[in-house]
Amino acid sequence: MPAYKRILLKLSGEALMGDDAFGINRATIVRMVEEIAEVTRMGVQVAVVIGGGNIFRGVAGGSVGMDRATADYMGMLATVMNALALGDTMDKAGLVARVMSAIGIERVVEPYVRPKALQYLEEGKVVVFAAGTGNPFFTTDTAAALRGAEIGAEIVLKATKVDGVYSADPKKDPEATRYTSITFDEVIGKNLEVMDATAFALCRDQKLPIKIFSIFKLGALRRVVMGEDEGTLVHV
Ligand code: UDP
Repeated sequence: MPAYKRILLKLSGEALMGDDAFGINRATIVRMVEEIAEVTRMGVQVAVVIGGGNIFRGVAGGSVGMDRATADYMGMLATVMNALALGDTMDKAGLVARVMSAIGIERVVEPYVRPKALQYLEEGKVVVFAAGTGNPFFTTDTAAALRGAEIGAEIVLKATKVDGVYSADPKKDPEATRYTSITFDEVIGKNLEVMDATAFALCRDQKLPIKIFSIFKLGALRRVVMGEDEGTLVHV
């Protein structure tokens, strides 16, 4: 039995990149969708917030010297591209996907309307939230916390390259150990990095648990959904 009925999965743009330097790697996105399909078949309602860092970031690379808000809108548009690719790949894999955008861009993607999103989830469709929060100066991590709270997800699953939160950087410190679970207050006390500060504060306020896990580990998403020891659980 899955441990959750409804989850919010945050995928960074980089998760779609695979070993490529930028953009979307076909084999990678197909595999990611297979993992999502697997938990959907278990009866779990899945909403996804997708990042855009594989295409554009408002605070790095090509945006240097640009007006921050303009660059951030470009970043949000990048997430729309990823969301379209993800939705299309899901449809091809036999899922029914609905992409919803926080920015009005109706000819391309339907707008985010909360009751509609809830209805889709009840119907077993996978909802992909595009364009982050719709506001500059925020991140898709914050969008994940926000949408997660809005749709009443039981947990925010943050897929990363590392398989959890460690006591120190595992690349630099061989003694570093992974926390199986940790409280929000411990994360602050130990000065650990989980999500950006706004996203973290929102989850903490809403008592919305976060699970940090590696999307590159085969079957990790299923194990997380089954409540098995995978990644790190951040809780109140
Ligand atoms: N962004 C934004 N507001 C949001 C979400 C995203 O302005 O609510 C912009 C911001 O410029 C960010 C870019 O979109 O750098 C891509 O999002 P993010 O960096 O969160 O993507 P990820 O790192 O998850 O791939």
